[in-house]
Amino acid sequence: MVHGVRGGDTVACAGEILSYRYRFYAPSDRFYERCVGLTWCSTCREYSGAMVFVPRNEDLWDPLADLPMPERERLVRSEVKLLDYLDRLVRRGIDRRASRDRAG
Ligand SMILES: [Zn+2]
Repeated sequence: MVHGVRGGDTVACAGEILSYRYRFYAPSDRFYERCVGLTWCSTCREYSGAMVFVPRNEDLWDPLADLPMPERERLVRSEVKLLDYLDRLVRRGIDRRASRDRAG
């Protein structure tokens, strides 16, 4: 579990678990389908990251696409900053709307 247990102590946390996948490699790279999957708790901010496989033809929502490159690089370098940013977007409902659009 992402949250609630730390060092053997059970901490009650009813925070919502959010997740996000993003591409790490350029489309021309042979590792393009290897993406980063982040899962975090919106309340206590515990998170875990893992390598996930996303087929080349699957469109991933890129919340950083509109950011200027320096800002984007700053976020990608730090998972904590990235999660902060993503969490704000999700709270505003942007992620949910994007998911519904994809579902059709
Ligand atoms: Zn939590």
